[in-house]
Amino acid sequence: MNAPLSTPHSLPPERVLAALEVDPEVGLTSDEVDRRLAEHGPNELPEEAPPHPLIRFLGQFHNVLIYVLLAAAVFTAALEEWIDSGVILLVVLVNAIVGFIQEGKAAQALAGIRSLLSPTARVFRDGEEVEVDAIQLVPGDVVLLESGDRVPADLRIIAAVQARVEEAILTGESVPVEKKPAPVAEAALPADQTSMAFSGTLIAAGRLTGVVTATGARTEIGRIGKMVSGVEGVTTPLLRQIDQFGRQLSLAIVGAAVLVFLVGWQLRGMAPGDAFMAVVALAVAAIPEGLPAILTITLALGVQRMASQNAIVRRLPAVETLGSVNVICTDKTGTLTRNEMAVERILLPGGDLMVQGEGYEAAGQVLDAQGQPIDPKDEPALEALARVAVLCNEASLRTVDGVRSVQGDPTEGALLVLGERLGLAPREARRTYRREALLPFESERRWMATVHRHPSGARELLLKGAPEQILPLCGVSDWEGRTDAAAGDGYRLLALAHAPDLPDGAEVSADDLERWVLSEAPPLTLLGVVAIMDPPRTEAAEAVAQCQAAGIRVIMITGDHAHTARSIGARLGIGDGARALQGHEVEEADDETLRDVLAHHDVIARAGPGHKLRIVQALQAEGAVCAMTGDGVNDAPALKQADIGVAMGIKGTEAAKGASEMVLADDNFATIERAVEEGRTVYDNLKKTILFILPTNGAEALIVLAGVALALSEFPITPVQILWVNMITAVTLALALAFEPTEPGIMARPPRRAEEPFLSRFLLRRILYVSVLVSAACILLFQWQLDRGASPAYARTTVVNALVAAQLWYLFTCRFQWRSSVGLHALVGNRAVLVASGTLILFQLGFTYLPLFHTLFTTEPLGLLSWIPVLAVGLLLYGVVELEKAWGRRRGHGHGARGATDARHSPSHRNG
Ligand code: ATP
Repeated sequence: MNAPLSTPHSLPPERVLAALEVDPEVGLTSDEVDRRLAEHGPNELPEEAPPHPLIRFLGQFHNVLIYVLLAAAVFTAALEEWIDSGVILLVVLVNAIVGFIQEGKAAQALAGIRSLLSPTARVFRDGEEVEVDAIQLVPGDVVLLESGDRVPADLRIIAAVQARVEEAILTGESVPVEKKPAPVAEAALPADQTSMAFSGTLIAAGRLTGVVTATGARTEIGRIGKMVSGVEGVTTPLLRQIDQFGRQLSLAIVGAAVLVFLVGWQLRGMAPGDAFMAVVALAVAAIPEGLPAILTITLALGVQRMASQNAIVRRLPAVETLGSVNVICTDKTGTLTRNEMAVERILLPGGDLMVQGEGYEAAGQVLDAQGQPIDPKDEPALEALARVAVLCNEASLRTVDGVRSVQGDPTEGALLVLGERLGLAPREARRTYRREALLPFESERRWMATVHRHPSGARELLLKGAPEQILPLCGVSDWEGRTDAAAGDGYRLLALAHAPDLPDGAEVSADDLERWVLSEAPPLTLLGVVAIMDPPRTEAAEAVAQCQAAGIRVIMITGDHAHTARSIGARLGIGDGARALQGHEVEEADDETLRDVLAHHDVIARAGPGHKLRIVQALQAEGAVCAMTGDGVNDAPALKQADIGVAMGIKGTEAAKGASEMVLADDNFATIERAVEEGRTVYDNLKKTILFILPTNGAEALIVLAGVALALSEFPITPVQILWVNMITAVTLALALAFEPTEPGIMARPPRRAEEPFLSRFLLRRILYVSVLVSAACILLFQWQLDRGASPAYARTTVVNALVAAQLWYLFTCRFQWRSSVGLHALVGNRAVLVASGTLILFQLGFTYLPLFHTLFTTEPLGLLSWIPVLAVGLLLYGVVELEKAWGRRRGHGHGARGATDARHSPSHRNG
């Protein structure tokens, strides 16, 4: 069959199609596709091989903190402290294994999310237009592309309408190149092959039909060995901040260690060996070994939870940024509304008609102004109008299992249904009046046009678009009152017009069409204006209200009419029914005016992608952390500029998705609100984890320092015991915090300030005083045990248990940042906490009572009496932290109401 075509760009399209044995009107048959798939393999690029597990495992040791521990193991071995050295090594090993497993899980979670974003392609197969996974394409497939699509394989272009393709990925040239079917010289390089569209490039404008000439690794991009880029990196600003903190901490530890050694040896007269063990203890104590792995897993869990709620995070930092979003700029159509459109009214020159019917069903009736049913066939004015509705239209209706749905733009779907209700069946009409030219709809232009040939031989130009665009072209000026009134009722308006008798002539190109319409060369006649209802989503109004309560301003940016926008906005609680700002006003305002104007408008109408970019920039200049939705290729700059670019998963283009941080699988505004909630939760949990882990290290370090400073003859805790506490609490308790559910009232708080440092004063204060409190209690407990005649080993066992008990109690207070943890609710809601606590208790009992542990950790079994002070230390800590939280609450922390009023950015509140 199709011997691989080596130079399709230089052959006429027909020859390429013939060589590939495909009829462009029909496409390949399913059997043929299967056969070719078996022959050519799937259309995918080899993915970058993941690092070898061994490399990944060794990578776990590449960490300054681990180096310090390894050095400690070497030194203890040199001192022939074999058990200590062995336990340190064991802990390092366990840490590496836990890190390895968790990193693997995190990577898996992210890879799973990547697969949610796999691209699709529209192809002709078996004579039908179908959507398939791009991976299923084979040479010979006929692919349909439009602006915003990513080219899924190498294609020989067979038809093009004003098509321009951005090939930066291949050629480095970011200016889009015009593409058309005409063959080019055989020697042309890919950059000059204007008859080809290459895999991975982006359709910047227009339409393309092409036949696949190469797939997978045999495409140009495959040959130059570029890798697919999906979800990116596993690090975030916060993780980097913490990483840096870790490095600073290590430096501080080394400095402190030297000091401890000198003080112990010179001033306190310790033997050098003992002084050295103190240094090792300090290093081991102060290092939060488990922290990095736990933070990563917390983020990965968050990303997974978001994905299960339809918010697909493409870039991990977005999870953090979401928590500080304070403005959401959202599209209207499909995001805030249902995108289930129906024409309800027709404004004709002579009066209004009403249209009734269920959903997309053809059955329905047309009523006159008095509510009397009429027969559309009796209204000659409706005949041409129905033609525009059905023919100047690229959508199609499909019935699957008795349910009708729209393929393509829902606005156009509504017009097809209208045509049927007016008695013009789309399929027949399209056969009767063959289309000879098409200028597709673009958001910037806001209208589209086609040319059709009547059976009589006459040629007709059909035109539809936004009334402001169309009415002046038709020389109509007295409709404004009527259209404003309909828009004010929330209707989306489309004016339909035609030029019935085009002079016969040469083939018409899209450019000709555009020129003709704008110059009104064939005089255009207005046929009517249709009013389409697209009801708001019920959940959207609720989500908007929640955002506003959470101190997040919601701005609606739409291409629709100002009155339509205002009316729909008001129903959703956006803009309080105030006047909508218009796209052209955004354009005309200078930067400063724009910032000012934006402060007072939540609804922006007749706005296009270019306006969106200026709006985000102006909002950001005022300090906003801005989320912005988009779907088209021209939205990409605004999506990139926004702090969180949000692309639509269903109607969004690949270009928009590629420019975004997050993709909404369901195109629904409410999903953004949930993602913000989840983002806040993740940030809370990261904070809680740190708040939980660091004081343990602090307390241990202080115990060691105090031991040296007070020149205690016996140390209250040994290095290996410290390691035990760190590891056992990290893998049980701290990990449990990653599963902590969203705190109630999280959306009643104002957004986190973007510039807020992670280690805030509050955090540092808490870490400091908990460390001091716990270490002091442990030292006193140690002394008390020695004073009542216990052996040092026994006293140390008490100290270790006290440290762990303190952590256990502390965990329950850490579950809620400000909310009280006194009461049963602190025990429920997160099963992981209970499982972790139970496990920890078992381990502690083993540590205290099993002979093996007695050897490894030089512990001794505790008597019943000794448990009382152990538990008391925990209770004391719990009480003190709860008091701090209560004090914080009195100062207004964690109270939704205060946050909500403080942070409402909505203009009505600013003015009021
Ligand atoms: P957003 O999705 O940003 O809320 P939108 O989808 O309502 O905005 P557009 O699709 O750009 O905005 O539509 C803007 C205007 O263009 C509409 O009000 C309508 O008058 C006109 N219009 C929309 N779709 C078509 C179409 N397929 N053909 C002709 N005109 C259209």
